[in-house]
Amino acid sequence: MLKIYKESWIDDWYETKWRQEEYRARGEKSLKKFYEVIRNEPPDVMELEKGFNLKVGEYTIRGVIDRVDKLADGRVAIVDYKTGEAKSEEKVDKDQLLIYQMAAVEVFGWEVARLAYYYLDNNQAVIFLGDSNELDKIKKKITNLIDGIMTYDFTATPSQHICRYCDFKEICESREI
Ligand code: SF4
Repeated sequence: MLKIYKESWIDDWYETKWRQEEYRARGEKSLKKFYEVIRNEPPDVMELEKGFNLKVGEYTIRGVIDRVDKLADGRVAIVDYKTGEAKSEEKVDKDQLLIYQMAAVEVFGWEVARLAYYYLDNNQAVIFLGDSNELDKIKKKITNLIDGIMTYDFTATPSQHICRYCDFKEICESREI
């Protein structure tokens, strides 16, 4: 793993050499910890980087699922890797994995047992599964978002959390930070 990591590392995008080395070392540490965690009980990985096209109403959305594990009972577990440290289930934004759950069921016909955001900084997962109510809500949310894009409705919807990580925060007049 470390050999692949070294060969795949790209030096670009870092403000300073020091920053670059800090991230490279952090990645190496995460990989070592990840290996320790999974080597005793390796998952039965069924798919990696699995792409899909999902119909939502009249629209089609595309996505790529990081990892799909096959479980002993024939169902699947869907894993999405995240940098950073694990949050509590109440604090995570579930939308991405809920979309993957819909794609798993509707596109591939898999029975989903669980969804997991896997945080590489501390090797912890936040695990949940969407119920029919949550899946209905996410479908409506996607349709509304795309409707807004198609009608050129770009009204800002700032929030402290979203604006903090936004690439346009320096020039945006609506930012909330
Ligand atoms: S900074 Fe502006 S563009 Fe970025 S998320 Fe906030 S409101 Fe939206």
